[in-house]
Amino acid sequence: MLPIRAPQVQDRREKGGGNVRDVISPVTEGVVASVAVASVEDTDAAVDRAHRAFQDWRAVSPGDRARLLRRFAAVVDDHNEELAQLEVRNSGHTIGNARWEAGNVRDVLDYYAGAPERLSGRQIPVAGGLDVTCYEPLGVVGVIVPWNFPMPIAGWGFAPALAAGNTVVLKPAELTPLTAIRLGELALEAGLPEGVLTVVPGKGSVVGERFVTHPLVRKVCFTGSTEVGKRIMAGCADQVKRVTLELGGKSANIVFADADLARAAAAAPGAVFDNAGQDCCARSRLLVQASAYDEFMGLLEQSVKAFRCEDPALESAQMGPLISAGRRASVASYVDDDAVLFRGTAPEGAGYWMPPTVLGARSTQDRHWREEIFGPVLSVLRFDDEADAIRMANDTEYGLSGSIWTRDLGRGIRVARGVEAGNLSVNSNSSVRYWTPFGGVKQSGLGRELGPDAVAAFCEVKNIYFSTEA
Ligand code: NAD
Repeated sequence: MLPIRAPQVQDRREKGGGNVRDVISPVTEGVVASVAVASVEDTDAAVDRAHRAFQDWRAVSPGDRARLLRRFAAVVDDHNEELAQLEVRNSGHTIGNARWEAGNVRDVLDYYAGAPERLSGRQIPVAGGLDVTCYEPLGVVGVIVPWNFPMPIAGWGFAPALAAGNTVVLKPAELTPLTAIRLGELALEAGLPEGVLTVVPGKGSVVGERFVTHPLVRKVCFTGSTEVGKRIMAGCADQVKRVTLELGGKSANIVFADADLARAAAAAPGAVFDNAGQDCCARSRLLVQASAYDEFMGLLEQSVKAFRCEDPALESAQMGPLISAGRRASVASYVDDDAVLFRGTAPEGAGYWMPPTVLGARSTQDRHWREEIFGPVLSVLRFDDEADAIRMANDTEYGLSGSIWTRDLGRGIRVARGVEAGNLSVNSNSSVRYWTPFGGVKQSGLGRELGPDAVAAFCEVKNIYFSTEA
C-alpha cells in the first residue's frame, strides 16, 4: 500500500483533524493507497496560500516563468514511467495509454511554456493619446478533474493557467487522486514556488463547491458530467465567475459505403472501447450506411472480438476494467441481451471487468442510443444518405466529437460542417492534439481548452489610454 497524502492537508491529518479515504484498484479491488481528504477549512487555506503566491508569480518575468514550466515538463518526463504505473494501479488504464497520458502533461507544459514571452496586447489608434491593451492573469484558478483521464485533464487546466501568470488549486476526482498528488510534488521539485500549484483532494460537494463559492477563486475550469457542470455554472453566476465546462458526450461514428471499410472497422473498437469506454469523446453511436451494413458489421465483429481486454499492466492490453463496481452496474443496466449483436471477451474474477459489447438499436429513441453510458458499449443504426446521417448524428443534446469515414473528400467536408460538435475527424478517430482547440457545443460544454487560444482564456484584457495632451 502506498502511503500517499496530499502535502497541503497533511498537517491537519497528523493533528487528527482530517478524514482519510482509501483508493481502490479497479484491477484487484484491493486498497492501493490512503489519501487525506480536504475539508472546507483545508480548501480555504489552500486558496489563501494560492492567492498569496499569485502576488509573486504574476511578477515573475516571462522568461523565468517559461523556464520554470519547461523544467516542470522535464521533471514530469523523467517520471513518466512512475506516473504511468501509478495510473495503471489507481485507474486501471492500460500501460500504453498511461504512458501517453503522462507524456501529454509534459507536452502541454512544454507547449504553454512558449506562451509567457509571446502573450502580447495591441496598440489601437486613437486621437490625442496612445491606447494599448494588455493581458493580465485572473488570480487563483480552480481546476476540477474527473476520474476518467486524471493526468491530461489536470494538465490542460493548469499548464495554460500557470503560463498566463495565475496560480492553480487542483481538485482530482475522489476515485483517482494519486497522479495529481504526485504531479503537485513534481511541480515543487521542478522549482515552482509553494502555492503556485496546489492539489486539494476531496469531495466534489466540499472542495469543488468551495472553489465555486470562494470569492478569491476567479475562474473554475470544470471537466465532468453535464449534470454537475450545470450546477457549477449556476453557482459561478452568483459571483459572475468565469467558467469553462468540458462535459459529457454521445458522439457519432459515421461510416459511408464508399469508405475504406476495413480501415474504418479496424478503428471503430478503439474509438469507443478505449479506456473501457470511459471517454467523453467515445464514438458510442455507430451509423452505418445501409448499403454497406452487412459487409461492415462482419468486419467489425472480427475487430471487436480481437480487441484485447486484459490486465492493463500487460503491454498488449487495449482495454482494462471499469473504474468501480458502481460504474459497472450502471453500464450493465443498458445492456439488454436481446439487443446484443456480438461481444468481445473480458477476464473473470477480481476486477470491475466488462467485455466490449455491440448493441443493435431499434430506433433513435432507444435509451442506449440516446444516453451517455460511459462504458464499453456501442449502439448501431443504419442510415440511407448524407442528409439522414447528419440528421441522426445531430439528434442528441450533446456535441463533443465524432468521426466520418468516406473516400469522397467533398462529402467528408460537407458532413463535418453539418454535424454539431466541437471536434470532428474525417477518416480518423483522433480528437485531441494539445496544439489544437478542444471542447463541446450544446450540452457538451462551454469554452475551449488546448490550442493557441487557451492562455487568453485565463486572462483579462485591460485597456489603458494615455493622454498626450499637454
Ligand atoms: P462528475 O461530474 O461526477 O465529477 C467530476 C468532478 O467534479 C469530480 O472531481 C467531482 O468530485 C467533482 N464534483 C462533483 N460534484 C461537484 C459539485 N457539486 N461541485 C463541484 N465539483 C463537483 O463526473 P465524473 O463521473 O467524474 O466524470 C465523468 C463525466 O465527465 C462524463 O460525463 C464525461 O463525459 C465527462 N468528461 C468530459 C470531458 C470533456 O472534456 N468534455 C472529459 C472527461 C470526462
